[in-house]
Amino acid sequence: MNFISTRDNSPATTLSQAIAAGLAPDGGLYVPETLPSARPLELGSDLADTAALLIAPFFAGDALADALPAICREAFDFPAPMLPLATPDDHVLELFHGPTAAFKDFGARFLAACLTRLRKQEDRPLTILVATSGDTGAAVAAAFHNRPGLRVIVLYPDGRVSPRQAHQLGCFGDNITALRVAGSFDDCQALVKRALNDAALQAQAPMSSANSISLGRLLPQMSYYAHAALAHKRATGEALNFVIPTGNLGNAMAAIIARALGVPLGRIVLATNANDVLPKFFSGADYSPADSAATIANAMDVGAPSNFERLRWLYRGDDAALRAAFTASSVDDGQIRDTIRARYQAHGEVFCPHTATAVKVLQDLRGQGAAGDWAVAATAHPAKFESVVEPLIGRTLEVPPALAGLLARPAHADPIAADYSVFREYVARG
Ligand SMILES: *Cc1c(COP(=O)(O)O)cnc(C)c1O
Repeated sequence: MNFISTRDNSPATTLSQAIAAGLAPDGGLYVPETLPSARPLELGSDLADTAALLIAPFFAGDALADALPAICREAFDFPAPMLPLATPDDHVLELFHGPTAAFKDFGARFLAACLTRLRKQEDRPLTILVATSGDTGAAVAAAFHNRPGLRVIVLYPDGRVSPRQAHQLGCFGDNITALRVAGSFDDCQALVKRALNDAALQAQAPMSSANSISLGRLLPQMSYYAHAALAHKRATGEALNFVIPTGNLGNAMAAIIARALGVPLGRIVLATNANDVLPKFFSGADYSPADSAATIANAMDVGAPSNFERLRWLYRGDDAALRAAFTASSVDDGQIRDTIRARYQAHGEVFCPHTATAVKVLQDLRGQGAAGDWAVAATAHPAKFESVVEPLIGRTLEVPPALAGLLARPAHADPIAADYSVFREYVARG
């Protein structure tokens, strides 16, 4: 299968090349030349097995095709259990059992497993640049730690990620460099973009990125939806509907593509925080990216969802069809807090602020009479956001073992100004 750009101005390329490049040369996002048509899909014996079966058509004819089962075993070596919620026919798909306790571990580990296999002994080290508002950087750092021939530079806005997120970013060392930038997330992203476009620097130190537009993150994220929905279908005969907490639309886009491939998913509803570009679009307004506003669900503080271009491609630019296919709702900080507090008091359930946006949207849907079986995607473990969650539920949260292991390591991040020449030095050092 070949891959083309959403902007149609780049040569068709192989999957390996698309994964290595991240973004297409014309600034667009890589998409398959033609999407495999919907077909009956097989439930694998476990998540890794379902993943390999589902993703195989995208790897057909590629240099990595034979390695796909091993890549899936390596990336999906922790579970994604679906558990019932207290409210009838509602479920939670827990995506936070990986090394850094957020769903981004799946994509980051799959990408690292692919890039490791694409490296040749004689290649110069490849530098992965990541600007992060918290979770992406930690997942990428954990996935690439001590991988030969690969190094990672993570930039995060100093003082604007949670203390536990900051600790996770700085605790790896070795081939991982953490930089805390005196500036905003947008400043961090601007530094990364400038470096990636710096031809002289690229010649000196080959660079790539690991943001949520990467096919190497998008494809694996289809797997947990497929595994959960196929198992649910087998057990009950019913399709599963989902509410997905959404920022850059990476996680939700994976569910949308999985459904197009034939995964028995019903409705896919998007939940955002107060950054409501998508809810406005789906309720009929023009698509108008905005500056992001800070919320307590900080991994979703996105004003210009980077995968929106892929979604439009899937609907062939037909915004009316797109609006008819999805709904999106915005949940503000007060509603997030109320939901976390109320679900704990009523049912003893604990959610991270991101997951709580989806729980709130599901509650509202049920209130409006939505029928059928539903699940919310739980994108992070609540203990990762203890400074928000613990005061609301009035108790301390147990930290999952993998996260506790990271928090027990010493951590260090170099402070830098939001200044390109300073950052460039770090990249050039190689
Ligand atoms: C990244 C992230 C999201 C948003 O996912 P997108 O793919 O950007 O839509 C939601 N919740 C958590 C915990 C995250 O880390």
